Amino acid sequence: MICIVGAGFSGLTLAWELSKRGLAVEIWEQSDHIGGLISSHRDELSLRETAANALIWTPEIESLLQELELPWIPTRPEAKKRFFFRRGLKRWPLSFFESLALGIKISPAIFLRKRYFKPKDRESILDWGRRVLTEAATKFLLEPALQGIYAGDISKMSASLVLGSLFQKKRAGAPRYRGSLSFEQGMGELIERLQDRLVKKGVIFRKQSPLESYPHGKAVVLAVSAASAAKILKTRYPDLSDRLSRVQMLPLASVTLVFGPQAHKIEGFGVLFPRGQGVRSLGVLANSMIFESRGPCYSETWLMGGAQDLSVAQLTDKDCEAIALADREKLAQTLEKPLRSHVQIWAEALPHANQELKDFVDFFQERQSEVWLTGNYLGGLGLSKIYSWNCGLAEKIQNSLETKND
Ligand SMILES: Cc1cc2nc3c(=O)[nH]c(=O)nc-3n(C[C@H](O)[C@H](O)[C@H](O)COP(=O)(O)OP(=O)(O)OC[C@H]3O[C@@H](n4cnc5c(N)ncnc54)[C@H](O)[C@@H]3O)c2cc1C
Repeated sequence: MICIVGAGFSGLTLAWELSKRGLAVEIWEQSDHIGGLISSHRDELSLRETAANALIWTPEIESLLQELELPWIPTRPEAKKRFFFRRGLKRWPLSFFESLALGIKISPAIFLRKRYFKPKDRESILDWGRRVLTEAATKFLLEPALQGIYAGDISKMSASLVLGSLFQKKRAGAPRYRGSLSFEQGMGELIERLQDRLVKKGVIFRKQSPLESYPHGKAVVLAVSAASAAKILKTRYPDLSDRLSRVQMLPLASVTLVFGPQAHKIEGFGVLFPRGQGVRSLGVLANSMIFESRGPCYSETWLMGGAQDLSVAQLTDKDCEAIALADREKLAQTLEKPLRSHVQIWAEALPHANQELKDFVDFFQERQSEVWLTGNYLGGLGLSKIYSWNCGLAEKIQNSLETKND
């Protein structure tokens, strides 16, 4: 019996991969909720997500959804438009001369190709941007784009951790990206389907069962956050635990504002905010524009916090709502009262993709550790990357158990 600790997306998809291989699995979850950060809530006005609102569409994810017999929905054509906020909404945030300077700066890439962009060892994203792009492109393009995904501080984020995979030689069969996808009832529908199919395969769910420390004589996989894994590993694997506890966890708040259908709308996927534009949020998603079936009203989700705004963890729901409304007023040039608002504050939402995390990942991979880990701090933050990691991990676990039995 393999014990998976944590019933978030990581734990559930690993359980699926293991049970497909005929292995017996039980899942220990400390809370009463299955899905970890992810859940979807529908009312008569709209659909709201607490964390991920979409999955990157890869062939691996497509196969998973086919196995689960779960129909998905693609993004709406309008969602192809993404905006930056720099003295107003822009599809491209650089001026003519800044774009020209960028073109000249990256012209060696015509000859050097990917080698020109390859990050150096221990280089931060900020240093990479200044070396490879221009100051303006780093500030108005790169920083907001990465903050919108990683919520990190680009002067500390590791360029090879975040960008490295873009410059590796593509292996045959490597996932190709086809955009994003979700489900009629939101991401929670995927969690429910996984749970349902796992139960049918005989997987046992133990809710309200926190694992305090790594047990002896049991096949265990930790599918929890970096911070929780560090605590569980402390007594049995102090070295690994120590390195993992150096990974900074970042707070995030998401504020979903629901407006009537006549409200001012962002006509695209959403908006990213470069620093210095008088806006505190990192970005905003125009939920109703991204996917169909998000309800009769128009809704937006504003994201704030991250490495440069750690104090969001101490804010109240009212504070977060006020920040989102003030930022929205700057964007829309009009103050509209939402019909409803929902705030979700995660004190430890995501791992910081900084050099400490890169050091941990390198250490863990080099050591070929006997400890099995999965989660958003190993192979990538997004769900498709986590699933890809789990496909490889399930194979490793199966091989290891077969070797032990021989
Ligand atoms: C606001 C926000 C928006 C996001 N948007 C996207 C997006 O659009 N697309 C995307 O791909 N990704 C997105 N992400 C990232 C993605 O949601 C997460 O990386 C992913 O959900 C993490 O899943 P997980 O299972 O690794 O961790 P978690 O969801 O944190 O699950 C871990 C589980 O382990 C349990 N646990 C912890 N400790 C113990 C213990 N000791 N014993 C037992 N159980 C324990 C927890 O209770 C929890 O249920 C977003 C994240 C946030 C916060």
